[in-house]
Amino acid sequence: MDIPKMWDIDFACGHSQEIDLSQKRIDQRAGYAKWLEQRDCFDCFKSKGTKKVSKEREKERAEELENVAVQEKRDGLLPLSGSDKQQVWARSLRRDVLAGLYDLYVTSEEHDEEWFEAEILTPARMIATSRWWIDNREFGLPAFPELLAAGAQSDDASENVA
Ligand SMILES: [Zn+2]
Repeated sequence: MDIPKMWDIDFACGHSQEIDLSQKRIDQRAGYAKWLEQRDCFDCFKSKGTKKVSKEREKERAEELENVAVQEKRDGLLPLSGSDKQQVWARSLRRDVLAGLYDLYVTSEEHDEEWFEAEILTPARMIATSRWWIDNREFGLPAFPELLAAGAQSDDASENVA
């Protein structure tokens, strides 16, 4: 009797597919076919995997946004204009820049909290566009006290945004 090379597998997900088992030893094909039938077909397996990854990423993103929102509330930062995508990005950038500046100048005791409030947070609160944070993202932290002062006077400042 010939042992078939092609096997009809009824997968656990409900899909059926003809699978080539010619690579398996003939005395292993039936066992392998049975094992396959306990699993989802390749397409279902793959799409479940993708769904899980994007769900995890979604959760991470939600947590990240929550952290950003906590900082915004603490520092009295205003919402930014721009598309949803730009806003999410710019708010993260803003959070990272401000945290970095705090470390660089206040934690290091080069300046005090009062300085940070006047020179960093006050102008940062006035910058109202996502664009400003995205456009300036390549600058190193030491450039930001000057950049923020300029930004607070620019078209990107809340009172000047049309
Ligand atoms: Zn399937």
